[in-house]
Parts: sequence; structure tokens; C-alpha cells
Amino acid sequence: MSNVYERLGVATIINAKGTATRVSGAPMPPEIAVAMQEATQHCVDMAQLQGRASEIIAEATGAEAGMVTAGASAGLLLGTAACLAGLDPARMNRLPDTTGMRDEAVVVRSQRNFYDHAVRAAGARLVEVGLADRFSGAGVRDAEAWEIDDAIGERTACVFYVAQPSSRPSLAAVAEVAHAKGVPVLVDAASQLPPKQNLGRFLEEGADLVSISGGKAILGPQGSGLLCGRRDLVASALLQNLDQDLFFGQWRPPHALFASLNLRGLPQHGIGRSCKVGKEQIVALLIALELFVGEDIEKRNRRCVARLEDIEAHLDPEIARGVRIEESTDGEEPRLVLEVESRPQGPSAFDLVIALQDGSPAVHVDPSFVDEGKVAMRALCLKEGDTLVIARRVNEVLARARFSG
Ligand SMILES: *Cc1c(COP(=O)(O)O)cnc(C)c1O
Repeated sequence: MSNVYERLGVATIINAKGTATRVSGAPMPPEIAVAMQEATQHCVDMAQLQGRASEIIAEATGAEAGMVTAGASAGLLLGTAACLAGLDPARMNRLPDTTGMRDEAVVVRSQRNFYDHAVRAAGARLVEVGLADRFSGAGVRDAEAWEIDDAIGERTACVFYVAQPSSRPSLAAVAEVAHAKGVPVLVDAASQLPPKQNLGRFLEEGADLVSISGGKAILGPQGSGLLCGRRDLVASALLQNLDQDLFFGQWRPPHALFASLNLRGLPQHGIGRSCKVGKEQIVALLIALELFVGEDIEKRNRRCVARLEDIEAHLDPEIARGVRIEESTDGEEPRLVLEVESRPQGPSAFDLVIALQDGSPAVHVDPSFVDEGKVAMRALCLKEGDTLVIARRVNEVLARARFSG
């Protein structure tokens, strides 16, 4: 039976890399896909749908409010726009021109990454703090909270913090100095799930807005995410995202977000309009979030480990000697690490990555460790039968090398 990709003439791939965007995230669990399809068959008032989303996201995260975004990156743009404009529609209309606004986002230099395009796109200017001197080998520490405190001034709109287990200084310490000067903290927590507790953890540690991917561990639509936190900031983010091409008197603000907030008007289309999110993305993300909250993640990880063990079991014994399966620690997805034995004329780990990717079907793995002679694989995005194909292809590539080398 042909699938839609075959009809379009696009080859499907085996995704042993994980939920990365470039390999299209994970196959969507059927319950979510069915809800998504159902959502396409009706019309709703988008503001009311996001109002209900706010209640559901608030329940799942402990936040005051939330909204569904077109991905974590979109959430960073919207969150920054909220910190810049507040609830002033004139300012919303001006962005990314920040004339007359506080427009600096303070960021720890070691946390800079190319997702911060989204922060800059909203109109903010990044002000870097700290110098983690790992390069010379002399450095032992990263930026400190007092350095962030020192960088906060009259022009500071927010502190931008990228959450990773290794992020320094701690979010709690950053939030303390920021809040002492009345400045909100916007957190990129795109890929910090699981563990499930991280849905609420960054808010507990003092974040004012947290942006999370919907297309990674939550298994929602690839182009979805959630932004949650302070109600006035989420309300501002939503105002700059929705289409409000209507008379002010027509507008029925969803109570969950706008109760007691006094607006003097609406932007018709804010800067976040280019981060449009459709009703089917919103519905599917909400269902995915509900399932994720109820899911036993340990069980999910055990299922992944079993698939990785299945790959290992079908590798030639000589190749399997170089395999280590790393079970999840602290929520990290389990992975299989294959050390490619180095031979004079044999393929390197990178050669294996390329041979797998260029074969048919293409098998995409994680190339992050090729410099150490290792190839990594994850199982969350694998489908039935993929494990055998992967093992066969690895055997072929490495066996060919053994005979010819
Ligand atoms: C994946 C990721 C993003 C982008 O998330 P999308 O949902 O794909 O927009 C942003 N920041 C970090 C740190 C990420 O890992």
C-alpha cells in the first residue's frame, strides 16, 4: 500500500538520529494524529482556542498561563516581543523597531547559539556576559550572577537563559538578580524534556516565560511548541501572534488570559504573525501534552532500550563488540554508541554515517561523536522493522570494508 510520501515521490528515511527537525521529528502517535485530523474538520475562534490552551498548559506546567506556538523557536520570538512591548499595542505595531523601548536581552556568553536568531528577530539586541575560559585551559568557572546583575541597566528588556543541565549560573540565581531589578527572565527549554518535572521546573526556579518544543519528546506536531509563564507576558505574546484584523468592539478576549488586563487597542498583525499556528497544530499539541503528562517515561525508555538491543543482537558479533547501550540518566533518551574499529584502509565513523545516509533506505544516525570514532543511534523515532534494516546495513558497510581492507 502506498503512503503519501510515495505518492509525492519523496523517499522516507529511517530516523535513528532522534527528534531533530532536519530528520522530521518522530512519527506521531495515532491518538494525536486522529485528533489533529478531526481538528481540521471544524472552525473555531482562534483566540478562544488559545484561551483554552492556556488553561490546559497552565495545568500541565504550573504556569499562570500558556499558549501553543509554532515551535520553541517561535516561542522565543514571541516571548522576546512580549518583554519588549508589554501590553502596549503601539509598541507591538512598531517592532522590530524598538525606538523608545528597553531593547537589550542580557545573555551568558557561553549560552549563545543560533536559536537566538529568534530573540534578535523580535528587535532585541543581545548583551553578552561572562567569559567561560575553557579554551586556554585555565578557566574553571562560567559567568556569575553578579555579572548579570552588573549588565542589567535602563535598557534591559529581559534576561535570556538557555536551560541545559550544564547551564551556569543557576536559573534561580539569575532570576534573583533579574527580579531585584524588575526584569523578566525568558528561558529556552526547547529540548529539556524528559524528565517530565522539567515542564514546571524552570518556572519554579524563577523563569517568567519558558519556551518548549512540541515536536521533540512531547511527540506533538513537528512545527509546534508551547510558551508558558506570567499571564501578562503570555497575553502580550498571544496578541502579537493572533490575526486581529477586526473591530476592537468585535473582539472577545479569552478570559483565561485577559481577565482584568486593560487594553487600549489591538495590533492587527504583530511581529509574531509570521509564527502563525493553525488550529490543528494547537489541538494536536494539547492532546500530545496530555498524553505526555500521563505517560510512564521510564516505560518509554525501556521500549527504546529494547529496540537498541535488537539492533545490537543483529549485528555481526565482531561489530557488536564495539557497541555500548547507554540507558537514560536523568531523562536523557537512551542511545546506542557504536565504536568503529579503526583499520588502515577501513571506513571511519564518518564514512559509516555517510554510507548509511546515502543508502536506500537512507538511515540517519547521530554524527556528533565521529571525531571520537563513534556513531550514536536513538530509537524513539524508529518504526517496526527498522532495527533489522539498520543492523543489516551496518553489517554490510563494515563487512565490505573488512574484506576489501
Ligand atoms: C530544538 C531547539 C530549539 C528549536 O525548537 P523548535 O521547536 O524546533 O522551534 C530551540 N532551542 C534549543 C536549545 C533547541 O534544542
